[in-house]
Amino acid sequence: MFNRSRRNLARWFTLSMGSILVIFAAVVYYQEVEDELEVIDRLLYKKTRAIAANVDYRFEQGQRRVDLENVPWLGNTPLPVDTELVYARWYNSQKQIVRFFGTPPPPQLTTAIGFHTIKDIDYLAPQNLFQPWLRQVTLAVEKNGTVIGYLQIATPLAAAQDSLSQLRLFLALAVPITIFIIALTGWFLGGLAMQPIRQAYFQLQRFTADASHELRTPLAAILSNAQVGLLSSDPDQQRLRLEKIVEVAKLMSNLVSNLLLLARQQGTIAPEALQEIDLTQLLKELARYQIEHNAETLSFTSDLPPYSVKVLADASLIQQAVKNLLDNAFKYTPAGGKVQLRLTSQSRWAVIEVEDNGIGIPAEDLPHVFERFYRVDTERTRKNGGFGLGLAIAQHLVEAHNGQISVSSTYAQGSTFIIKLPLKPY
Ligand code: ADP
Repeated sequence: MFNRSRRNLARWFTLSMGSILVIFAAVVYYQEVEDELEVIDRLLYKKTRAIAANVDYRFEQGQRRVDLENVPWLGNTPLPVDTELVYARWYNSQKQIVRFFGTPPPPQLTTAIGFHTIKDIDYLAPQNLFQPWLRQVTLAVEKNGTVIGYLQIATPLAAAQDSLSQLRLFLALAVPITIFIIALTGWFLGGLAMQPIRQAYFQLQRFTADASHELRTPLAAILSNAQVGLLSSDPDQQRLRLEKIVEVAKLMSNLVSNLLLLARQQGTIAPEALQEIDLTQLLKELARYQIEHNAETLSFTSDLPPYSVKVLADASLIQQAVKNLLDNAFKYTPAGGKVQLRLTSQSRWAVIEVEDNGIGIPAEDLPHVFERFYRVDTERTRKNGGFGLGLAIAQHLVEAHNGQISVSSTYAQGSTFIIKLPLKPY
């Protein structure tokens, strides 16, 4: 599945980037052709102007006469050496050929006025195989407002064609090589893009498998208790079974609430959901609750500052995170032990510490305790532990507030969990 998506990503990337590249290459080539033609056209135009300037036009005995004697290429002057012309032709005002130099022309002018790219066709031997490309210009020559004839000249395109064929060769090599590099890059980028998706997918898969596994055990207990209760006719036995079912159903309900909490709270909390809360007050109430409900066999102390410590947070979520840590400290500290709750503020952080001198966590388990469904396999954990979601939830909630959670622990000596939350900026 992931490889197919990666291939698709790479294919689309190559296709889109490749198309852009091909279009770009075509534009570059077209622009180069235009530039080459523009240079040639400018030169041809200058040449025709120079030639036309030498055409002598006068009235003789009431007749109009056009004299081409002094016209370069067409008259009796020596051939200029600086310009290469394939032919020069003079047609009279009726478009009939009068004089030419180079390739023999058709007797009548048929081409339209202007610049044209054509094959050099010898009018007398049109089947000639050697027909190079030419750039031809045809202009009407006017004197005193009347057209006295038409001048047509042409120059070979060989030099321009050479440079264009070099450019074509370069593009023909460069474009496929670049497309190949783009394809490789696409494959690599596709791999990078798939990485977080792959991770999230496997995480979700594991989470679903773990959650189903955890739900199966209490469900099996409910089922077996219900079946035994149904088979028994003893009302005491039936009551006992029902009580067991209620107990297990409460556990299940707790597990489902925790799973929902984890599933719902994704990413950081929206700023509009955050409120200014006083952590000192919030922890004071939490401490009071713990003393009332848990501190019968343990010594519980809270060390809170005499001033307010303000953070921007969702009070119920922060309360839940700290409560999870306190519940654990009480669960994993044997009778007679000590649990402490502290609050301090350090530079831009509010720091909440929950310290106990309970059973501690073995070093090899320490990096995993925040993972979902992770439980340290000790006798006390098996007896008192929950589903292994308490710390995962605490971490999730703290990080949703842009905070940090960490633990330090020594096996058989105790643990300290630390929550850091950004202080409200002044
Ligand atoms: P659980 O619901 O099983 O307590 P948690 O996610 O809260 O799950 O904790 C994960 C594991 O980390 C527990 O199974 C326990 O082994 C260990 N743990 C957590 N807090 C403490 C603590 N204060 N002292 C010792 N072990 C702890």
